[in-house]
Amino acid sequence: MDKGLLIVVSGPSGAGKGTVVGELIKNKGYALSVSATTRSPREGETDGVNYFFKTVDEFKKMIADNDFLEYAEFCGNFYGTPLPYVRQMLDEGKNVILEIEVKGAFQVKRSLPEAVLVFLAPPSLGELENRLRGRGTEAEEVIQRRMKRAAEEMELFAEYDYIVVNTEVEKAVSDIRSIVTAERLKTDRNKNINFK
Ligand code: 5GP
Repeated sequence: MDKGLLIVVSGPSGAGKGTVVGELIKNKGYALSVSATTRSPREGETDGVNYFFKTVDEFKKMIADNDFLEYAEFCGNFYGTPLPYVRQMLDEGKNVILEIEVKGAFQVKRSLPEAVLVFLAPPSLGELENRLRGRGTEAEEVIQRRMKRAAEEMELFAEYDYIVVNTEVEKAVSDIRSIVTAERLKTDRNKNINFK
């Protein structure tokens, strides 16, 4: 069986990653990696579904045990991708999506160059601020910190393989599906096709 594709989706918080990725994984060929984090759960978030919520000590133990494909600190909390699930899903031929920030994305590209990096951008930083405020889940100080980080992240989009501007969710989802289709058809990924 063909191995699945590892797709990293990054972009500033408020760019709509959650919504876009949620649409993508409605297709059975996709699996979403659930990250571990030391951030406190937001209202409505469930352990093991949105994240594996960890204490700092638990997270550090996972680092020491080499449990992560990548991890990074973001706005005062740690976030990391547990490796075993990603490996298993790829082996089962699923396209695995990692919804992670930029430092983690670059770590993934370094250790697995075949990963495809997609930057999901908001139409503008003003629109991003509206979305972050509209979400109503973050305190003002957190919004300010995330806006500052967003501006820094946006400067790095050119390091990604693809950029998708999320003006409309449906269009962004179909853009990412097109990227996945094209990547899976690359000759590099199909060297062992047998036409006999
Ligand atoms: P949030 O606190 O809004 O859920 O996530 C904050 C940022 O951390 C987002 O940009 C999100 O994509 C990123 N993030 C979530 N999980 C991971 C992870 O496992 N690794 C890294 N590097 N970033 C993550």
